[in-house]
Amino acid sequence: MEQMIIEIKGLTFRYETDVVLDNINLSIPEGSFLAIVGPNGSGKSTLLKLILGLLKLQKGAITIFGEDINRFKGWENVGYVSQKANSFNTGFPATVFEVVASGLTKKLGLFRFLKKEDKDQVLQALEAVGMLHFKNRNVGELSGGQQQRVFIARALVSSPKILILDEPTVGVDAQNVDTFYQMLEDLNKNRNITLLLVTHDIGTISDKVTTVACLNKHLHFHGETKEFEKLRENGLGEFYGHDVHMLSHYHEHEGAIK
Ligand code: ADP
Repeated sequence: MEQMIIEIKGLTFRYETDVVLDNINLSIPEGSFLAIVGPNGSGKSTLLKLILGLLKLQKGAITIFGEDINRFKGWENVGYVSQKANSFNTGFPATVFEVVASGLTKKLGLFRFLKKEDKDQVLQALEAVGMLHFKNRNVGELSGGQQQRVFIARALVSSPKILILDEPTVGVDAQNVDTFYQMLEDLNKNRNITLLLVTHDIGTISDKVTTVACLNKHLHFHGETKEFEKLRENGLGEFYGHDVHMLSHYHEHEGAIK
C-alpha cells in the first residue's frame, strides 16, 4: 500500500474569529512532488505552520509518518526551508560549507567538531543541489537562487524524507527558475525525497510537479498536474476565486502576460 507521509483530515483553523482554513482534507503520499498554490492570504502559510507543528491544531487531525502530530517526535525527517531563508547580506561571515554544516547542529549541538562522516554528509548535500564547487565561497556573495540552493542543502543534511519549501523561487532570477525546478525534480526522482512546496504563482509550478493542490480557504482542487492544466485552460475562476495569477514563467521571460 502507498505510504502516506502526511495526512490531513477535516482541518479547520481560525485566527480569532476569522476562519482561514475550512475543512481541509489532503494526503501526501511518499514520493510525491506537490505544489500548493493559492492567492495571497489564501491560508498557505497557515497550513504549513500547522504541518510543521508551529501552530496548535484547533479542529481536525494531522498525521505525519502515521503518527498524530501532537505525539510526533521524528522532526529530523522533515526538512523545511522558510521564505526568508535566502536573504543574507554580502558581508555575512560564513562559508557555504559552514551554513550547510549548521544544519547538523540538531544532531551535534553547537560548537562540536565535525567528524569525517559529518563533513561527507555536508558535501553530499551540496552535491545534491549542484553547489559543491561553491563550498568555500562566502554565502553572502551568492545570487538569490544560489543561496536558496544552499539553504535546501542545509535542510537536506539531516537526510529528511520530506522537504517543505515556502515560496522557494521568490529570490530566483526568472531565467534560472527552470534549472531550479530541475534540481528539485532530481531530489524527488533520484534521491527519493517527497517534496511539498508552496507558491502563490500558478505559473511557476511548471511541468515538474506531479500534483497540485489549490487552496483558497477551502481546498478547491487536488490532483495531477495534467488535470490541473486542463482546468487552467478552461478558466480556473469558478473553482478558485478570481484573484489568480495566470502568468506562466515562460511568458514572464518574454515580459508578456498570457
Ligand atoms: P498565504 O500564505 O496564502 O498568503 P496566510 O496563511 O499567511 O496566507 O494568511 C491567511 C489569512 O490569515 C490572511 O487573511 C491573513 O491576513 C490571516 N493571518 C495570517 N496570520 C495571522 C495572524 N498571526 N493573526 C491573524 N490573522 C492572520
